[in-house]
Amino acid sequence: MNSQFDVVIMGAGMVGASLVSALLNHAKTLDLKIALIEPQASPYQAGHNYEHLNDYQSSFDARSTALSFGSAKIFQQLDIWQQLSLQVQKIEHIHVSDKGHFGATRLSAKQQNVDALGYVVENQWLGETLLSHIDAHPNRNCLQFYRPASVISAKRREGLTQLEIDTEGESITINAQLLVMADGGRSTLRETLGFSYKEESYQQHALICNLEFDRAHKNIAYERFTDTGPIAMLPLTKQKKRHRNALIWTLPDAQVDEIQGLDDNAFMSQLQQRFGYRSGRIIGVGQRVCYPLKLQVAQEQVRSGIVLVGNAAHTLHPIAGQGFNLALRGVASLAQHLIAASAQGKSLGDLAMLSEFVDNRQADQQMAVNFSDKSMHLFSTNHSLLALGRDLGLQLLDICPAAKTVFARSAMGLSSPMPNLRTPQNIDPSKHNELNPTQPTEQGY
Ligand SMILES: Cc1cc2nc3c(=O)[nH]c(=O)nc-3n(C[C@H](O)[C@H](O)[C@H](O)COP(=O)(O)OP(=O)(O)OC[C@H]3O[C@@H](n4cnc5c(N)ncnc54)[C@H](O)[C@@H]3O)c2cc1C
Repeated sequence: MNSQFDVVIMGAGMVGASLVSALLNHAKTLDLKIALIEPQASPYQAGHNYEHLNDYQSSFDARSTALSFGSAKIFQQLDIWQQLSLQVQKIEHIHVSDKGHFGATRLSAKQQNVDALGYVVENQWLGETLLSHIDAHPNRNCLQFYRPASVISAKRREGLTQLEIDTEGESITINAQLLVMADGGRSTLRETLGFSYKEESYQQHALICNLEFDRAHKNIAYERFTDTGPIAMLPLTKQKKRHRNALIWTLPDAQVDEIQGLDDNAFMSQLQQRFGYRSGRIIGVGQRVCYPLKLQVAQEQVRSGIVLVGNAAHTLHPIAGQGFNLALRGVASLAQHLIAASAQGKSLGDLAMLSEFVDNRQADQQMAVNFSDKSMHLFSTNHSLLALGRDLGLQLLDICPAAKTVFARSAMGLSSPMPNLRTPQNIDPSKHNELNPTQPTEQGY
């Protein structure tokens, strides 16, 4: 079995699996040897219907993810969109409002000249699509998938990163030019290696579940700010003629047990009271799951032969649905850097190249972190002056088309340049504008 790799990706979650897909497309041409390491056994057996999974991998659990227009474009370049889009729901309208106050704003795909502002995908479907895409990839033999297996330790040795891996009780050692840590926000290796990061608990949980309504959602996503925290209601695909929405309800820690403890009828009535009837009457509720919320940003994201991506680099409040979209832009940019370096015969662990990648990502990361963090604080306050300010802001946004376009482009993941991941000879990380039209168009979907 091979023990020398060009790149080892730690974690086959949403981010790690996306990076593998991006690299595999060029692996044969560039003679790349890739390893992917994931502790959780695959829940996706051949012929298994994902709807009936109970025991799923954490990244691909009961949540749904709002993918931005830009993320759809990236998945399109990775040849994943065609399959993924079989079970995504378009977001054609976004309605932001402040419960009990006058502030509200609406965005529409038509006004922004696009087919959809974004798409909602259930994480289980995203997982099944990504992992089956990798498995069926024509360059699959360039990838060694260790599963179930975990990275236990990593050290630099003779210009390589040496990794100790536990695979079902057996310890093996492999070497790589580059270790990509995509092992999530609770990365233990990040602690062991002493990567510094700042962390702030929001003292909130996100309660998520799928809901059934008595009428169609009309492709509207709602973000409703309430005095106890924001409620997001995302449109889902219809299933067995049921009108479904995905709920993300941000609750202060002190209220989580009480709300989670309610029986289904009491839960639906509490939620209906807080959210109102804009989506209709709630008539059914699925399994409820809670996630503690925190902001975590790694201050050090790169060393010679090691780079952090996804939640291991930045974990955001889900209020603005930015976490994975930001991470996917990072994945696309990292893939571009690695493919270009490999094509030029450079080491993939080269610190200058990796630092350039991290530097290029700084502005986008900062913007997404600030946007989600500031929105969370601004919309979780009862302070009357701040509440007045935010309502004036929402109203102003609603009546000012230019401001709306800036806001919409940011929500659509189009405020930073779109990478080109198609052909190695065109992949130059410093040139990446050709797929980023000034005005997004409808083509391609
Ligand atoms: C309630 C909620 C709603 C959200 N909604 C949105 C949204 O609408 N839009 C959006 O863009 N983002 C959203 N996000 C954020 C998004 O879920 C995250 O950005 C995303 O899950 C990060 O993926 P990841 O692969 O980096 O980490 P993870 O999903 O945590 O995956 C890490 C993987 O690494 C593996 N691993 C762990 N340790 C090891 C080890 N030692 N060795 C090898 N592998 C290891 C794990 O098993 C796992 O598979 C939401 C988040 C929450 C909590």
